[in-house]
Amino acid sequence: MALLADRGSDLLIDGKMVSGSAGTFGTINPATEEVLGTAANADAADMDRAIEAARRAFDDTDWSRNTGLRVRCVRQLRDVLREHVEELRELTIAEVGAPRMLTASAQLEGPIDDLGFAADTAESYPWNQDLGEASPMGIATRRTIAREAVGVVGAITPWNFPHQINLAKLGPALAAGNTVVLKPAPDTPWCAAAVGQLIAEHTDIPPGVVNVVTSDDHSVGALLAKDPRVDMISFTGSTATGRSVSIDAAGTIKRVFLELGGKSAFVVLDDADLAGAASMSAFTACMHAGQGCAVTTRLVVPRARYDEAVAAAAATMGSIKPGDPTDPGTVCGPLISARQRDRVQSYLDLAVREGGTFACGGGRPADRDTGFFIEPTVIAGLGNDARVAREEIFGPVLTVIAHDGDDDAVRIANDSPYGLSGTVFGADPARAAAVAARLRVGTVNVNGGVWYSADAPFGGYKQSGNGREMGVAGFEEYLETKVIAEAI
Ligand code: NAD
Repeated sequence: MALLADRGSDLLIDGKMVSGSAGTFGTINPATEEVLGTAANADAADMDRAIEAARRAFDDTDWSRNTGLRVRCVRQLRDVLREHVEELRELTIAEVGAPRMLTASAQLEGPIDDLGFAADTAESYPWNQDLGEASPMGIATRRTIAREAVGVVGAITPWNFPHQINLAKLGPALAAGNTVVLKPAPDTPWCAAAVGQLIAEHTDIPPGVVNVVTSDDHSVGALLAKDPRVDMISFTGSTATGRSVSIDAAGTIKRVFLELGGKSAFVVLDDADLAGAASMSAFTACMHAGQGCAVTTRLVVPRARYDEAVAAAAATMGSIKPGDPTDPGTVCGPLISARQRDRVQSYLDLAVREGGTFACGGGRPADRDTGFFIEPTVIAGLGNDARVAREEIFGPVLTVIAHDGDDDAVRIANDSPYGLSGTVFGADPARAAAVAARLRVGTVNVNGGVWYSADAPFGGYKQSGNGREMGVAGFEEYLETKVIAEAI
């Protein structure tokens, strides 16, 4: 099987690989700007067929009630993805520009392994809970709480970690008994199409249970949110698009689960190893060229040592050269597209207009005239009210902000429309944990602890979204709750 060949770029609708009614569109290697090939371009009629297939598979088959079949199919999907992991790795590096080293974790192998958690959860889940007997209104009644699938799930996903996000939706949604229409980002159609092809050719997942609809037209995704046959939208992407999806979904009051943007803070307390913490913050801001929703892009440091922190961050970021993602040593690859690179550059230009200075970086690397690269950049001299400190840039850009003690650091960290993640570094673990407890975010790292794991729910407060992905909480997002009351 060749995942990079034309077959890997078909749509998956009702169990069959089919071409797109709107023809094809190109998918581009962001490190070289070469067109890798074409992806199937779906139109509204293709999306209509995919939704119809998912609806039929949910309503007319026993998929939602046959837990054994689902557990087997989700494990089968994990296993077939593992068998093809080397092809998927090369595809992911080429299409996403993901540094090779990241494909050993969240960019590919992590989410494949995590499908096992979704299957295990479904296998051991208490689908029916006895609420006991009671006599509400004087009528003796036996009550049971049943958990069951929501129905047809429309999954709409971005390009930055396509496998992580596609599989963290597919795994629990399927294990919980739903059927799915997956609409991936136009920038990474092959990552999703390859999973669709493996599902069609190598698993027993019944026709219509998973449909993969690639398109370069965002409005094809909007159809999922509006369609009354779709029961739930599971969306990951920008806050602006999440808002639009919510408005579209409101017409049919469907459930909307949102994983959105972030502007997370890395708080360094005054007893911390400042240089070490600043350097770590700088390193993480460069990974995958900063294209992670939970990257800590505001480094919040004690005012008395501000210059020292800027210098330490700049020493690290300045030493990380954006490079070829196929190279095992590359940490910072390209941005996904010329559009994203230009967007990041416009924020760097804004930083200067706002009165900031660059301690390193500030534009495109001089030694790379092809590929959508931006130099790792440290912005200094601005407060938390600057737009570059408030808005998501989605590039390898770190803004250093001064604080005047723990309370002020908490205030600054929380003074954001977002609330996705955060980090606290301090020598006194109890004090650092106390600061972490006050952050209004969905995940927080204290002194280097890792929150990313199959059993740990991930998601945001405030405009970073609602609901949780992964963990048992992530599985339960895809369940309804029914009470059955039997007279006795
Ligand atoms: P995006 O919002 O532009 O697009 C995401 C998806 O929505 C794509 O599939 C796109 O085609 C689709 N879409 C666009 N307009 C639509 C509409 N009106 N209706 C329905 N679907 C529509 O995001 P992006 O640029 O692909 O990804 C980057 C963003 O994703 C960043 O803001 C990042 O923070 C966020 N993100 C969040 C998480 C998280 O878990 N919180 C994870 C990764 C990325």
